[in-house]
This record gives sequence, C-alpha cells and structure tokens, in this order.
Amino acid sequence: MLKKSKTSGQGFKTGSKCLKIRAHHLCCIQGFQGYGYSPIFVANLKAVISDIKAFPSRPLELVSECDVICASCPGKKECTAQESTISGRIKSMDLAVMEKLKIKEGTIMEADKAFSLINSQLTNASEINEVCGPCKWRQKCLWYMQEER
Ligand code: SF4
Ligand code: SF4
Repeated sequence: MLKKSKTSGQGFKTGSKCLKIRAHHLCCIQGFQGYGYSPIFVANLKAVISDIKAFPSRPLELVSECDVICASCPGKKECTAQESTISGRIKSMDLAVMEKLKIKEGTIMEADKAFSLINSQLTNASEINEVCGPCKWRQKCLWYMQEER
C-alpha cells in the first residue's frame, strides 16, 4: 500500500481526474524504488506515484494497453505494436491481474481500493509469478521481493 504524501504530481490540481493505468502496474507502482528504463521514464513514474499518494482516492481506469506510465517509456513503440511478442507478453500480465481481481477492461476504481484489492487477491508465489514471471526488474522490485513471498 502506498503511504500518503503531501506533494502532488505534475499537472493534476485535484484528485478527480481519472488516470489510465495498466492493471499490472498496480504492482509495479508499489515496488518502485527508483529504477527504470530511462531518466525521463523514472521522472514520470515518480510524478504518477506522487500524484496517487497525494490523492489516494484518485479514480484509476484499469486497462491492458499503454497508460500514463508507458507514455514516457522508451519501449512504448514495441509494447504498442499489435503483433509484437513483447506487446502480447505485457498484455498477458495485465489480463492475469484482471482475472485475479475479477475485473473487466476499463474498470474504474479509486486508487487506494485498487491497491487494497490487489494486495488481498495476489498473495501466493505462483500467482505472483504468473504476473511477474517475465519481468526483468524482479530483483529490484520491492513488491515482488516482499519477505512473505
Ligand atoms: S516484478 Fe516487474 S512486473 Fe512484477 S511488480 Fe515488479 S516491476 Fe512490476
Ligand atoms: S515496458 Fe511497455 S508496459 Fe512497461 S512501461 Fe514500458 S511501454 Fe509500458
């Protein structure tokens, strides 16, 4: 669960604007400790996380396509290409999360509720590996490395 912060992220003056978030990024956001694909990617992810900490009731639209985090990622093109292997692999991570949470593409949920839900529904190692198995950041990710897993 993210701790509340007093600072808000870039560009969001209130907590009412809906943020599009890939379903598996609910896990990544909680595990982030400053590593990422490029300085711009890291800065954007920090801003998104700051915003959600400042507005825990911010509505999130949970999707299996590019989101506000992907927007600054150098891999965005490959992840967006319909037929690419990476695109399919990443989408399968989102779909695995949606299946575990019993939600549909485009479900809108307040951020704090979404984090509580994922942390209550994804608890055992085999389920977590279904989502995180192909990820190269597993050894840098606090969510993946939580002691009880
Ligand atoms: S291991 Fe990778 S996919 Fe899993 S939560 Fe961490 S960053 Fe995300
Ligand atoms: S690797 Fe793909 S899914 Fe992950 S942040 Fe970059 S564009 Fe988004």
